[in-house]
Amino acid sequence: MTARLLDGRDLASHLRRELLHRVKRLTNGDPDTAPRLAILRSGLSDAAALYAASLERAARSVGVEPLLLADETDALLRLMDGLNEDPRIAGIVVAQPLGDPERGRQLVERIDPGKDVDGATPTNAGWLARGEPAFVPATALAVIAILEAYDVPIAGRRAVIVGRSAVVGRPVASLLVARDATVIVCHRATRNLARETRRAEILVAAAGSPGLIRPEMVNRSAVIVDCGINAVPAGIVGDVQFATVAPVVSAISPVPGGIGPVTPMMVLRQLVESAERAASPRTSGAIISSTGTEPSMNASRSSVS
Ligand code: NDP
Repeated sequence: MTARLLDGRDLASHLRRELLHRVKRLTNGDPDTAPRLAILRSGLSDAAALYAASLERAARSVGVEPLLLADETDALLRLMDGLNEDPRIAGIVVAQPLGDPERGRQLVERIDPGKDVDGATPTNAGWLARGEPAFVPATALAVIAILEAYDVPIAGRRAVIVGRSAVVGRPVASLLVARDATVIVCHRATRNLARETRRAEILVAAAGSPGLIRPEMVNRSAVIVDCGINAVPAGIVGDVQFATVAPVVSAISPVPGGIGPVTPMMVLRQLVESAERAASPRTSGAIISSTGTEPSMNASRSSVS
């Protein structure tokens, strides 16, 4: 059997071209008016540094000006009000994890929800939980984007998510429920994980546990989306044992090259949508639709056996 490869790099380059075009339209070709994305980082976490760097690169690639602020959390807290009030700053992202989780929370809570383009604030989490999404965590949006771009049916499907964090598992669950999937959320206290995952038509792995999902835990018609980014001696791997699972499922996103490259594009898409709304008085104030129409990746026929 040959699984279809849900290629995030291809999707990310489609999205990049689309966003570049929209930013050019917004700025009328004048780079001085480009919307700015403030990226805040504190502490020594490799994951936060990598996320900040990938956002910075992605922003430049679509004509958005990144403003990278790496400092002590207290200093960043003092800067936040200025960023919230600055009209040139269209979006603010705090690269997680921060050194001190409690201070990190305070920093995130201080972001103006109207500039929270990575859906991190409690206000935006609340809107999403109510089924009225405003800004949504970008990794969760990337999961939906990759499913929709590859025309994976969601409505009526049984989706199983492994992981219930505020940044991935929970928002993915809300977005899938909003698209009429029947959703099961698993975690460490789930009694028989394999029994749940085997029944999944869509399986989203977001556990941060390398190779957690093995071939005996999936069914042959399953579509697998792997959000895991785990550093092991051999390099970066996902939560799914790709080499053994790919041959026994219908579609799978790889790590690296799956959700990873799509995630920064989702931050930027939310930023560009917000900047477009601000530029268009007729629509300003409207509730944000953070899930745009995905470019169809139907023509892309990569597969893995
Ligand atoms: P967290 O550690 O915050 O959450 C992990 C979740 O997985 C928890 O709910 C935990 O359960 C559950 N879990 C862990 N191990 C098991 C297990 N053996 N069985 C069942 N459930 C388990 O991680 P994040 O949500 O922040 O990240 C998840 C993964 O996604 C990581 O690899 C991370 O690097 C990656 N990631 C990728 C991004 C991207 O852009 N591609 C962005 C953000 C994260 P419990 O709640 O019971 O502890």
